[in-house]
Amino acid sequence: MADRHAAHLLIGGGIASATAAATLRAEGATGSVLLVGRELDAPYHRPPATKEYLRGSASKADALVHPAGWWAENDVELLTRTSVTALDPEARTATLSTKETVSYDTALLATGAMVRRLSLPGTELDGLHYVRALMNADMLKRDLASAEARHVVLVGGSYIGCELAASLTEMGFRCTVLMLEEEPMERGFGPRVGRHVRALLEAHGVTVRGGVDVEGFAGAERIERVLLAGGEELAADAVVAGVGATPDVMTARKAGLALGDLGGVACDAGLKTSADGLWAAGDMCEYESVLHGRTTRIEHEDLAAKQGAHVARAMLGSTAPFAEVPYFWTDLADWSSFEHVGAAKDWASEELDGTPGSGPFGVRYLDEQGRLVAALSADGGGDLDAARAELAARVPA
Ligand SMILES: Cc1cc2nc3c(=O)[nH]c(=O)nc-3n(C[C@H](O)[C@H](O)[C@H](O)COP(=O)(O)OP(=O)(O)OC[C@H]3O[C@@H](n4cnc5c(N)ncnc54)[C@H](O)[C@@H]3O)c2cc1C
Repeated sequence: MADRHAAHLLIGGGIASATAAATLRAEGATGSVLLVGRELDAPYHRPPATKEYLRGSASKADALVHPAGWWAENDVELLTRTSVTALDPEARTATLSTKETVSYDTALLATGAMVRRLSLPGTELDGLHYVRALMNADMLKRDLASAEARHVVLVGGSYIGCELAASLTEMGFRCTVLMLEEEPMERGFGPRVGRHVRALLEAHGVTVRGGVDVEGFAGAERIERVLLAGGEELAADAVVAGVGATPDVMTARKAGLALGDLGGVACDAGLKTSADGLWAAGDMCEYESVLHGRTTRIEHEDLAAKQGAHVARAMLGSTAPFAEVPYFWTDLADWSSFEHVGAAKDWASEELDGTPGSGPFGVRYLDEQGRLVAALSADGGGDLDAARAELAARVPA
């Protein structure tokens, strides 16, 4: 016999769960809703951690998904600082870190992702940072101030590394981006846009070095030098690594749920896991995408929210497949903003609308048959709405 019962149990305190809670109420769910999240704070948006929150132009309250009073007003119970330590999908019960057991009718597993950590000599030294939570941004700022840091090295040239380089430059630090690939953001946007991103960063004083293999760090107590393959050493006052994230499937694995080849929890086209009454959403959800025609797992805030909303409707009886077109944005301070739809793994050719470096532009990414697979809008260029509609029309009826 469980200690208590929730009609809808939401496991994980991120955007996916928070949006599921709101959608349940918006769709008229009358049963009890319980959200269990491990972090100290109520669900918040992570994107500001490398952008306006880091720069100090947005507060923690600004970053909350729902304002503080929302939970009580909407009769959603929020348990922060609490983990689900065990889940029994057969019995439909969860055990909390408070030792309480909760039985449920339907549940959402949205445990998100964890930063990938570097495994290199010298990573035990002070001055190495990762940014996943708002708290990490606080710690980074405090550390840079107390170490009187001037030069920050960013390891990784994808969105997180580039956003941090832009924000930290705006905050007065000298920044160097080091990456294995040749151009920043080229893995998502292609080398042509990558060269444009490099030019943008360099125009603001960021040093950008591609084809660089970081082999470790050296210093007395804190990092003083970054060691590069080939023997070069680069002086640094602090390092922030943005080298990706891994889906957090610890709870799912312990519960015996099927996992996918992409590292997430395996879900069907409607986001249901291998257990009845249990769905997944967000960064750790690996689903059979009717839009992409393949299994996929995507780490975008907007998609996590839409998946959370989809699961809420599934909890209330909908059997629709999840067919949203993935949308993603990234900002380089207020220098430039990129929006992207489609989440294509690869493409055969690119069509440009405008010229990178001469104002807003768009890129259409096409497959070998010339069909649109993704589109990018830089500073509002191109026609993202048309691209989104074109991609959405691809979903079989
Ligand atoms: C710094 C940063 C910047 C980003 N910027 C952008 C951007 O500009 N644009 C964009 O589209 N996307 C961006 N993203 C990605 C976006 O934030 C993620 O896709 C989104 O946060 C995923 O939401 P989620 O709910 O799946 O997971 P998460 O936000 O990871 O939330 C999961 C939560 O569940 C908790 N949890 C895990 N296990 C348990 C358990 N057993 N019990 C209880 N709680 C548990 C975790 O502690 C965590 O709080 C950014 C991400 C980061 C880190």
